Amino acid sequence: MQTHPDYPQHLAELPHNFIDGVGQTGAGKVRTLRDPATYQVIVELADADRSQVAQAVSSAGHALPVWSDTAPAIRARVLFRLAGLIEAKAGELASVEALNVGKPIGQAKRDVQRAADYFRFYAGCCDKLQGETIPLGPDQTALTVLEPIGVTAHILPWNYPVSTLARGAGPALAVGATMVAKPSESTPLSAIMLAQLGLEAGLPRGAFNVICGPGEIGEALASDNTVAHVTFTGSTATGRKIMQSASKPIAGTTLELGGKSPVVVLADADLDAAADGVVRGIFFNAGQVCAAGARLICARSIHDALVKKVVAKAEALTIGHPLDNPDLGPLISAQHLARVEGFVDRAKSEGLTCAVGGHRACPDGLTQGAFYAPTVFTNVPAHSEIAQQEVFGPVLITQICDTVEQALDLANGTAFGLVAGVYTADITHAMQFARKVEAGQVFINGFLQGGDTVPFGGVKESGIGREKGLAGLAAYSAAKSIIINHRDAS
Ligand code: NAD
Repeated sequence: MQTHPDYPQHLAELPHNFIDGVGQTGAGKVRTLRDPATYQVIVELADADRSQVAQAVSSAGHALPVWSDTAPAIRARVLFRLAGLIEAKAGELASVEALNVGKPIGQAKRDVQRAADYFRFYAGCCDKLQGETIPLGPDQTALTVLEPIGVTAHILPWNYPVSTLARGAGPALAVGATMVAKPSESTPLSAIMLAQLGLEAGLPRGAFNVICGPGEIGEALASDNTVAHVTFTGSTATGRKIMQSASKPIAGTTLELGGKSPVVVLADADLDAAADGVVRGIFFNAGQVCAAGARLICARSIHDALVKKVVAKAEALTIGHPLDNPDLGPLISAQHLARVEGFVDRAKSEGLTCAVGGHRACPDGLTQGAFYAPTVFTNVPAHSEIAQQEVFGPVLITQICDTVEQALDLANGTAFGLVAGVYTADITHAMQFARKVEAGQVFINGFLQGGDTVPFGGVKESGIGREKGLAGLAAYSAAKSIIINHRDAS
């Protein structure tokens, strides 16, 4: 098979782990990374073993006093420099990310820019973090000093590797904490490149370590006694395990977990705007988005008309090799393709109506590869597996409502609570919905708008804690209260 002409070069030269400022070959199993569009081998990397996890944590511990004692304005300069270096290497980072994840190159470029933006946003926060004074009367003064929490662990998923790493690394490093990241075993490449750039930008050795490997390496990291906080992004099932692991060192946790997010469209909505939002919300990154709008909850009177528009748009989406920048690339792997296919097949055997898709896709010239066609099931009962479980693929379901209350019941009727959307011309209905829906973020007359300076995170089984924006800083520092007694005893 022909290799794509835009394949990134030099991947074989990338170190496998990045510990104490030095690239290291892993002492664990050798892992083969494949292009999910062709299953061609991209590169082979060796996982870290448990002793390398301990080394990385110890190195972050040694770097902690150096980095936390660095003046805030100097920390800011280093992080601003890191943002600039990411932008300077954006082309290479984006093509590596596109190839490794199967993500259309245009979306990968956007993710790389978001990574730079996170570092720049949090660089600007370094010298603006302040404590408070608390009134205690004339004889005592209390004040708080914000101290970095310590060594932080960042355990990451495969769908947005570079931007998800930056959204935790930015605030952790800004407050003076140090870190060990464990990217997904499927998508470690951009994390290693980011850590190399961090050193080049002026981070002290050991402030930003990356270890690669499977879940057991993540477990060793989350349960290491030196770790003070674990930021985890991934599935709800793994999130539960992380909470247990982090209970060993009594570490804090930020958990960004799965979703089954609703998009409600009421009868008075602008149908074209809603159709655009629904299609982007579920088919972006081939539906492999925690906040994907996987459930369209629609007023009965407009349901069929809206489904018609959504289906037409879904049929027009292009599918192809990520480096050719189609609308949809492949799913992450053959294993994940089989998982998505399993959900769809079980929905069909329940007798549900599939309005479009429902099968693998085979774009021109790519007879192999983990491609799945944009799929829509209509009028799905609330108890169906496909209405309750996160598919994490390009699969939308629709549900019909007659009132705002019914829309809310359906929207709140899963174990998840990540984001929600509502389209309506009536601000009272929109605000009723926004106030009562169980979600960490709500979009009115749009979907997934708002950007990375707005707090993000879930409720219920979608997680705890908030990332992005100023709220994202909270997890990485602790207030130390100092009470001064200055009563004149004479
Ligand atoms: P996953 O839970 O399988 O893996 C996530 C990470 O955890 C990987 O690095 C993995 O190696 C590691 N891991 C696995 N078992 C572990 C253990 N026992 N201890 C420590 N680490 C362990 O998730 P995934 O398949 O990589 O990603 C998809 C999931 O992530 C979806 O559920 C998606 O909704 C969620 N996600 C959430 C957000 C968010 O911000 N809420 C963003 C992206 C993805």
